[in-house]
Amino acid sequence: MGKPTGFKEFERQTAPYRDPQERLGDYKEFVLPVLEEQLRTQGARCMDCGVPFCQSETGCPIDNLIPEWNDLVYQGRWRDALDRLHKTNNFPEFTGRVCPAPCEGACVLGIIEPPVTIKNLECAIIDKGFEMGWVKPNPPSKRTGKKIAVIGSGPAGLAAAAQLNQVGHLVTVYERADRIGGLLMYGIPNMKLDKETVERRVQLLRDEGVEFKTGVHIGKDIAMSEIRKEVDAVILACGATRPRDLPIDGRDLNGIHFAMEFLHANTKSLLDSNLEDNEYISAKGKKVVVIGGGDTGTDCIGTSMRHGCTELVNFELLPQPPDSRAPDNPWPQWPKIFRVDYGHAEVSAKFGSDPREFCVLSKEFIDDGKGNVAGIRTVRVEWTKEDGRFKMNEIEGSEQVFEADLVLLAMGFLGPEDTIAKELDLELDPRSNFKAEYGKYATNIEGIFAAGDCRRGQSLIVWAINEGREAAREVDRYLMGSTTLP
Ligand SMILES: Cc1cc2nc3c(=O)[nH]c(=O)nc-3n(C[C@H](O)[C@H](O)[C@H](O)COP(=O)(O)OP(=O)(O)OC[C@H]3O[C@@H](n4cnc5c(N)ncnc54)[C@H](O)[C@@H]3O)c2cc1C
Ligand code: SF4
Repeated sequence: MGKPTGFKEFERQTAPYRDPQERLGDYKEFVLPVLEEQLRTQGARCMDCGVPFCQSETGCPIDNLIPEWNDLVYQGRWRDALDRLHKTNNFPEFTGRVCPAPCEGACVLGIIEPPVTIKNLECAIIDKGFEMGWVKPNPPSKRTGKKIAVIGSGPAGLAAAAQLNQVGHLVTVYERADRIGGLLMYGIPNMKLDKETVERRVQLLRDEGVEFKTGVHIGKDIAMSEIRKEVDAVILACGATRPRDLPIDGRDLNGIHFAMEFLHANTKSLLDSNLEDNEYISAKGKKVVVIGGGDTGTDCIGTSMRHGCTELVNFELLPQPPDSRAPDNPWPQWPKIFRVDYGHAEVSAKFGSDPREFCVLSKEFIDDGKGNVAGIRTVRVEWTKEDGRFKMNEIEGSEQVFEADLVLLAMGFLGPEDTIAKELDLELDPRSNFKAEYGKYATNIEGIFAAGDCRRGQSLIVWAINEGREAAREVDRYLMGSTTLP
């Protein structure tokens, strides 16, 4: 284990962030590296629990061998820690940067003290691995002759491709965007996950033999029937890309956009021309309202702030969460508590207060008389519990107008698009995701599997990696009769 008395001796210390005022001037990552001494001390805090909840079902979805690498970091055995990390996670450099870390929510130390800084340690191990040149392409020694198409290049598709390639199948990943990575590339902004980090991993996969085809929209540019003729199995990893809309009066006014239109265009323009081509929706000089919280809302906030918006308000329909766990949200569940994410901190630093307005329901977008949005008419709501279910009631007399000349809708996603499903006659589940049992991933169509957000609905990178890995295992079993994949 780490140091037996480590958790009593050392306090939790997380990786520092760059000063908000400074980081608002660029799109570089905002988390700073941690000194090796601090990392070892943090590893020493791990208690090597008999039942390590950090890697259990409520903790890490990919069962990362967390206590083992915590101890190895404490001992300074970085190379061994890296080998352990890669056993369960194809892409620790992504999760180490942007996973919300359910493992830390489930860490046993968290019952009495702040949990172990698992995410920072994960990131440090893989960053060290790249720095030392330990992460190298590892192509399979022989090929099986089986061909697999993966549709979608997000973390689910990439994890599936990596695993299937390792056991010798020939994998082609089709992506309709011009760059590989799914939401790793065009959802999560550069300041959270630098795109060179994504491209570095994609290049490794390429060097190992995975083929990537960009700019190909399956179901439009190439029919599924054509793809199926060429391969032995298909994995659908298309993501949950249908955004939830807000169909209230004035929705068609200029200046109201889905979050992904805003975020995708920004990153593309940033990578193509350092934002010089003006092919993005600018928040510069605008009063911005972001409707909806979560990661997507925060990323819209962070991006608008970097553009130079003059005001920023973020509506949340739900009440403000408590500062510490509520009685019905005990350990080891994910703590549903009030958090200040990077975007909120940036607004506070620049404009003096947190941007969030809780319990706000948008009723109507207001026209400036020229077809542009000028504001949003809202009402406050209160939530009551009736027969065990939450009910929302509007509060009389609480109407308020918020000025806005740019509105970004970040209210979640409603499952995958239906083009492929229609062509294949694919069964959907009641939430309009591709229907396939968790752990099996087979759809109702022979030889077609589904993994990631298109199967489970909008989720997390770590779950996409979990599903991509497991779907690869099931495809390998389907093709070969048995499998050695985890
Ligand atoms: C703005 C934003 C920020 C987020 N931040 C975080 C975070 O900080 N941490 C975290 O853990 N999770 C975060 N998430 C969630 C996470 O990104 C997703 O859960 C994860 O990317 C899902 O992976 P996936 O591989 O299933 O799908 P995706 O990443 O959505 O990839 C699907 C890919 O399939 C492609 N595709 C779809 N249909 C076709 C087709 N017919 N032909 C060809 N290509 C197709 C799409 O273009 C896309 O590139 C965030 C999500 C968003 C929207
Ligand atoms: S639950 Fe926390 S303290 Fe226990 S083994 Fe996991 S990281 Fe270490």
